[in-house]
Amino acid sequence: MPAAMGTAVHNSVEDLCNLDLSSKDGDETGWLPPTAKAVLDRHWIAERDTFLATPRHPRWKDEMITKAHDGLVGALNILFSKSNIGKVALSEVTVEQWRSVQSIVLANEGTLKSEDGRLMGRLDLLVADMDENGISKGWIVADLKTGNPPKQKLNEKVSRQLRFYRDLLKENNPDHPPVHAEGWYSSNQTIHRAEGPSVLADALEAWEGMRPSPTPLESTPGEMQCGFCEWKAWCPSWWVARRDGLLSPGAMFRDEVVSTIRFDPESGAALFQRMPPVGVDGELAASDHRFGAILRDQALTQMQELIESGHEGPIFLGSARVDGKIVHMGDWCEVLPWTPLLKSIRE
Ligand code: SF4
Repeated sequence: MPAAMGTAVHNSVEDLCNLDLSSKDGDETGWLPPTAKAVLDRHWIAERDTFLATPRHPRWKDEMITKAHDGLVGALNILFSKSNIGKVALSEVTVEQWRSVQSIVLANEGTLKSEDGRLMGRLDLLVADMDENGISKGWIVADLKTGNPPKQKLNEKVSRQLRFYRDLLKENNPDHPPVHAEGWYSSNQTIHRAEGPSVLADALEAWEGMRPSPTPLESTPGEMQCGFCEWKAWCPSWWVARRDGLLSPGAMFRDEVVSTIRFDPESGAALFQRMPPVGVDGELAASDHRFGAILRDQALTQMQELIESGHEGPIFLGSARVDGKIVHMGDWCEVLPWTPLLKSIRE
């Protein structure tokens, strides 16, 4: 959902930057709020359709459009400040002022590709870095962020991402003016600059390490990365890491690999048995750890479909909410066949 919201905001900014205003009077005001709303509504519906057509998705939260709207206004405010327009209410923005915003946008949603074709990035905005006299003193590679802003400085991953765009752009444009990379956080309208040396050599090394091979990439289970990973149903490593105590089971929400002892498709009541791993190759064993579950909504539908498909093997339960001795599963959960990938099926 946050990704869909971010895309709707990004695409709306892009459309507004590309808006054809040639038929409008320069001093017209009051046009931007309804235009921005119409553009956002259009992208919101497109994102919702894509989201709902995705096989693995939680509930669509229509109420988040308010947050998306705030994000869009935040992004536009940053553009005003970069165009030396300063603080201005959206309803007061003249067509002429928006034209001057458009004039500093050198590219939006551009694809950056290294000469050898190995490295690629999508930059949100490339804008002219204007001084107080309205003269361009360089380029700014801007990445719009609709997520939580950093408390102090950019975290290492975001900094690396921004510098990657900066460095690719510089490599492709040897005669470039001074270039800076910035994260624009729409929620509190703060701008964070990414400083530091080039990351291209590291990126190439990573590219080499990701060459397809029959052997899977080395797994690196950890609380942070496994917590939100969507590949657990295919990854043998996190379940082994849980067994070995490298990962905690989680207090309120848990992932489990189980076999089904009983399941009532009508009421959604189920009794599961945990299947702990044996060795490291995805093999499982029975255990005497059993727990009851109440499945509703998406979790119930997925379980019903799994049973109807004739699946008899172990099952991955994603994000089951623990409540005493039973777990609750609903729209926020996933019920998938447990099918760890141990090696590539293609040599
Ligand atoms: S679940 Fe597996 S693939 Fe996902 S982060 Fe953890 S170790 Fe990596």
